[in-house]
Amino acid sequence: MMSRRKKIYEGKAKILFEGPEPGTIIQYFKDDTTAFDAQKKAILEGKGVVNNQISAFIMQSLNAIGVPTHFIRTMNMREQLVREVEIIPLEVVCRNVAAGSISTRLGMEEGTPLPRSIIEFYYKNDALHDPMVAEEHITAFNWASTQEIDDIMALTLRVNDYLFGMFAAVGIKLVDFKLEFGRLYEGDMVRTVIADEISPDSCRLWDTQTNEKMDKDRFRRDLGNVTEAYVEVARRLGILKTAAAGGGGGGEAVH
Ligand code: UDP
Repeated sequence: MMSRRKKIYEGKAKILFEGPEPGTIIQYFKDDTTAFDAQKKAILEGKGVVNNQISAFIMQSLNAIGVPTHFIRTMNMREQLVREVEIIPLEVVCRNVAAGSISTRLGMEEGTPLPRSIIEFYYKNDALHDPMVAEEHITAFNWASTQEIDDIMALTLRVNDYLFGMFAAVGIKLVDFKLEFGRLYEGDMVRTVIADEISPDSCRLWDTQTNEKMDKDRFRRDLGNVTEAYVEVARRLGILKTAAAGGGGGGEAVH
């Protein structure tokens, strides 16, 4: 089935195939997991399945509240149909609580609440290790226009408000997350939409009660039970489409 499709691009965690109609793309979620510029690698069985489900659920919810995303529909356990967009070469990070690189860079203890949500931009370039950049660089080098930066910031804050509440309702603290944006061409119109994925690979999610990490830091920091934690996130959101959904323990195989 897969072999009949034309592969467009293979990334670290996903493969993009040509979609069934012009202007569509199939995103295939792999089990491959990388960190630290892909110096650390592993295959975590079932991770792709659960990330496909979590990302689909979040993107669908965002579409429903009028935040435009590339997401069209889920095709199967590992694949979703999305709109073809021109990716804006930025990683947009939004933070509510200090963790990861902001803690290191500014010497803030992990877990310190930030006085307000902070948006940061990183230039998407593996060879340069995704350096942090300012709006000045983004507009001077034409990575995005001033209007697009305005759209990106407004959309990011709406996503943060929505996801913060959604996760809080199931006992999860949204510490930070990364978004990517694309240009969707519709006739002679261009719209800025959310692209890529939103999953525990791209968010920091801490249990509200225990501060236990339920995200990719479990892999980065060798905490173990990575997929199990992602499954627990999906279970709390009520979106596991398997027999495991009703189970208490989490960690059941997802196939
Ligand atoms: N992030 C991501 N992809 C990247 C870099 C960061 O999805 O290439 C996410 C990361 O999972 C976290 C947030 O963006 O939820 C902020 O990451 P940070 O800048 O702290 O970098 P890290 O120290 O995690 O590399």
